[in-house]
Formats: sequence, C-alpha cells, structure tokens
Amino acid sequence: MRKVADCRDFPSEMDCTLTISGEEGEVLDAAVDHAVSVHGHTRSPELREQIRGMLKDDVPQHA
Ligand SMILES: [Zn+2]
Repeated sequence: MRKVADCRDFPSEMDCTLTISGEEGEVLDAAVDHAVSVHGHTRSPELREQIRGMLKDDVPQHA
C-alpha cells in the first residue's frame, strides 16, 4: 500500500500544497526533508513520528 503525505494537512504558516506519495519509508524520508528544508522544522524522531501519523493511504483514483 502506498502512502500519501499531503502538506495541506500539516500545521503550517505557509500555503504549501505539496503532496508526496510512495512507499511509507520513502514518503517519510522525503516529507521529513521537506519539513526541515522548506518549513524550518527541526529534524528529530518526534518530527518523523508526527509525519507518520499524518500519512494517508494512497487510494487509486480510477474506479
Ligand atoms: Zn510543505
């Protein structure tokens, strides 16, 4: 199951609409990098856990 991190779901003062999708580990790595580099968060296990808790299943849109 692929996962999606949608930046619109994250508490942010930026109007960021980035979405990252892929395998959970890939999404986490990319989302942590993004949160640190773009949103100025501090890289930490807590940040990674917070992001993990916000991942959603990537449901195929074609029905
Ligand atoms: Zn963002």
